[in-house]
Amino acid sequence: VDGDAEHGVHAFLHVNTEQALAVAAEVDGRRARGGSDAADLHELAGVPIAVKDLIVTIGQPTTAGSKILQGWHSPYDATVVKKLRAARMPILGKTNLDEFAMGSSTEHSAYGPTRNPWDLDRIPGGSGGGSAAAVAAFEAPLALGTDTGGSIRQPGAVTGTVGVKPTYGGVSRYGAIAMASSLDQIGPVSRTVLDSALLHELIGGHDPYDSTSLTDPSTGLVAAARIGNVKGLRIGVVQELGGEGYQAGVLARFNESLDLLRDAGAQIVEVSCPNFVYALGAYYLIMPSEASSNLAKFDGVRFGLRTLPADGAMTIERVMASTRAAGFGDEVKRRIILGTYALSAGYYDAYYGSAQKVRTLIQRDFDAAFAHADVLISPTAPTTAFKLGEKLDNPLAMYLNDVATIPANMAGVPGLSLPGGLADEDGLPIGIQLLAPAREDARLYRVGAVLE
Ligand code: GLN
Repeated sequence: VDGDAEHGVHAFLHVNTEQALAVAAEVDGRRARGGSDAADLHELAGVPIAVKDLIVTIGQPTTAGSKILQGWHSPYDATVVKKLRAARMPILGKTNLDEFAMGSSTEHSAYGPTRNPWDLDRIPGGSGGGSAAAVAAFEAPLALGTDTGGSIRQPGAVTGTVGVKPTYGGVSRYGAIAMASSLDQIGPVSRTVLDSALLHELIGGHDPYDSTSLTDPSTGLVAAARIGNVKGLRIGVVQELGGEGYQAGVLARFNESLDLLRDAGAQIVEVSCPNFVYALGAYYLIMPSEASSNLAKFDGVRFGLRTLPADGAMTIERVMASTRAAGFGDEVKRRIILGTYALSAGYYDAYYGSAQKVRTLIQRDFDAAFAHADVLISPTAPTTAFKLGEKLDNPLAMYLNDVATIPANMAGVPGLSLPGGLADEDGLPIGIQLLAPAREDARLYRVGAVLE
């Protein structure tokens, strides 16, 4: 795939036509033969899917959007990929992302940015901008993403697609290159709520290869998406997510969604989650801390790139240092430094320890809110898609995109973003976010189907 491909969108880093066509042909053959051959096929058999290039696949490279893994091939499939193959879904290719999933615009990819199909001068969100753009541009009907602080939902919001972060532990992380292990979840990207439910149900379930995998994962997702009924349901508007810092056109469409739910018989209530305002700050201590540890394995010995010191003076430390200096981009280095600092002796309690306490407070806010509401609602992102380059030199402005999505990761609860129409001022898509208690993912689909 080169930069001119895909009409300038550049959603894919690698395309896998031969393998995908072979799977499609097999499914066609079984359907033509009929009988049990056809009847045994999964509902999604033959439906092509794009996979975020943070998820490992046999037979295709996995780069994590980083130079350090250029040309690396995984010797095994992620559990979710195994499930796609078992369901006979042709895997179209691997989609672009911010390096190691660090970013909100896909501009931090070492292989060039992905562009938003709605306007090629604008970002498709991140880190999973490739998966969202592939679906929005009708290059793939379904995609897989990963969401550590919003990387499925925020790209969904700014590209007008549906994206879901499942309950933590609901979908196996085995084979998703870890960014922040206590926050990461794999989830679906699609054009409709029902499509996400179908994919979510396929990839979900207990996996002995993931020690944080739930033994009793969420069920009834597809059934809930088909019912789509909010009569009598209490939907809580989170006071802290909305208002200042949110674009007027985003809020206008968001309020229309509330009217729609009210008309459909839901009871709209106000809930307050006062500690959500600290979520972003705590996230940018916990996430880099875990990432700095997870990324230690890219040492120039075990995976991918090895850059030898220019002067030829070779010690193991110098090989590691020159490899990591050449292989990692600026954003990754920034976070490794931040994380290493936060975890260092003497600072651990002040930074990492405090952030973990904030995390507990956020979980308690959710518990209190869910005592009054069955589902919570907010805009997914404060603005519509911004222009490429606009926030590249200002990490803090980039980080602010995730204010509304991060609390769900901090508490492990599921979240769904779906299109809420176009903002008046720029004609670009806005996203509505639904949040439910852990293991109650089905509620997201039940409400999402009504809003669609
Ligand atoms: N944009 C957020 C970050 O940069 C979230 C990333 C993610 O969910 N992978 O950390």
